[in-house]
Amino acid sequence: MTEALRLDGIRAGRLGAEDLARNFDDLHAPLTGHEALIAADRCYFCHDAPCVTACPTDIDIPMFIRQIATGMEDAAAKTIFDQNILGGMCARVCPTETLCEEVCVREVAEGKPVEIGRLQRFATDAMMAEGEHPYTRAAETGKSVAVVGAGPAGLACAHRLAMHGHSVTLYDARPKAGGLNEYGIAAYKTVDGYAQAEVDWLMQIGGISLKTGRTLGDSLTLAALRDDYDAVFLGIGLGGVGALGLEGEGMTGAENAVDFIATLRQTADLTQLPVGRHVVVIGGGMTAVDAAVQSKLLGAETVTIAYRRDQDRMPASRYEQDLAATHGVRLMFGVVPAALRGEGQLREVELSYVDGDMKPTGETVTLRADQLFRAIGQKLEAVEGLSLDSGKIAVDTEGKTSLDGVWAGGDCAAGGEDLTVTAVAEGRDAAEAIHRALST
Ligand SMILES: Cc1cc2nc3c(=O)[nH]c(=O)nc-3n(C[C@H](O)[C@H](O)[C@H](O)COP(=O)(O)OP(=O)(O)OC[C@H]3O[C@@H](n4cnc5c(N)ncnc54)[C@H](O)[C@@H]3O)c2cc1C
Ligand code: SF4
Repeated sequence: MTEALRLDGIRAGRLGAEDLARNFDDLHAPLTGHEALIAADRCYFCHDAPCVTACPTDIDIPMFIRQIATGMEDAAAKTIFDQNILGGMCARVCPTETLCEEVCVREVAEGKPVEIGRLQRFATDAMMAEGEHPYTRAAETGKSVAVVGAGPAGLACAHRLAMHGHSVTLYDARPKAGGLNEYGIAAYKTVDGYAQAEVDWLMQIGGISLKTGRTLGDSLTLAALRDDYDAVFLGIGLGGVGALGLEGEGMTGAENAVDFIATLRQTADLTQLPVGRHVVVIGGGMTAVDAAVQSKLLGAETVTIAYRRDQDRMPASRYEQDLAATHGVRLMFGVVPAALRGEGQLREVELSYVDGDMKPTGETVTLRADQLFRAIGQKLEAVEGLSLDSGKIAVDTEGKTSLDGVWAGGDCAAGGEDLTVTAVAEGRDAAEAIHRALST
């Protein structure tokens, strides 16, 4: 324990290197070969398996589990990658408790699902450890596609297009590819530089030229991309963050949760990353939980998530809520921020209780806070010339936008949940639609 642990303010080094290494270790240890066989043995290999229907990428789950059970790990990995080229990351980050594992017949009957996520990780890790890429490109088609955004949607789209023989230029505003896999997902879900290792492995398909530090709306325009390429795919995610609309939001200590998490993910030595002694997180989704849990793991003494509705309406799953609670994060429901206090540096947050109609009840509570994280949802940064639907890019069932030759998918596109696996599915499906359009 270091001296900084009990000091007010936003300070680095609240915990020592050993504690931090332990705290940010893998959330779920990988299965050993023996454990994987036991886990696979629990699967009933259901006909019309509900777990497959619940998977946004339609992975043939009973098939890959049977392949693991019969010692064919590479075949299992191939079954997964055929549908989801980021199957390794999804195995780590998918909220399986609300997708495949929620509907697994063994969950329904016994309250204990087959561990589909951990089995998926077992198979994909085994193949990736061999370093080889299982796909080869079709013959060059002579067609070129610009993919903007190298997050899960853009990567899945680029890979599928390259496989079909198209030549892909993958642009991203950030210095590294990976999107929120690299800059957003909680550190303990993707340890040991997995996001970059996965990008490198995926790029082995060939035919994809990655150009980082290129921003649509700045050094790139949609009009020029439409002129220069045969098709364009947009997978630019949601870059904007909403404000609370309170006085004092510019004070030191009041920050966007996604910026804090991005900094955390890019900090090699976590003893150098400052965190408050008392932290309040405003929001109720995965970002709120991740900011809160990681603040606690960095050594914050008190961490509170303040969510405006009741627990059942919290977007973070019950599993994520429990994860926060077991890390010592306090969850408050039916509260909204009413005032931020401090002189230059945040010191207190006043929360106001609200009823089911979001009307203040008149009751308030004041919490000490050196640091406040806004995690109240992200929004699309404007893209000129495209029709929008509920604040996102409007697309048809194939991901086609209102502009000819332009497709979109992932968080920036309307429809679907904002999840890694959904972004992969939409990127892959848009690539197939682009391929069909370029082949006619
Ligand atoms: C903190 C946090 C934690 C999360 N945890 C989970 C989780 O545990 N499990 C889960 O399933 N989902 C999680 N999600 C959601 C998941 O990360 C997203 O749904 C997913 O990353 C969306 O993929 P995408 O490719 O659409 O967008 P992104 O991953 O956001 O990638 C978009 C890419 O586009 C680039 N870009 C943006 N604007 C431009 C521009 N103008 N020009 C060029 N490039 C641009 C960005 O730099 C980025 O690389 C989390 C999200 C957050 C914020
Ligand atoms: S629902 Fe469960 S038991 Fe049935 S195939 Fe899927 S993982 Fe196996």
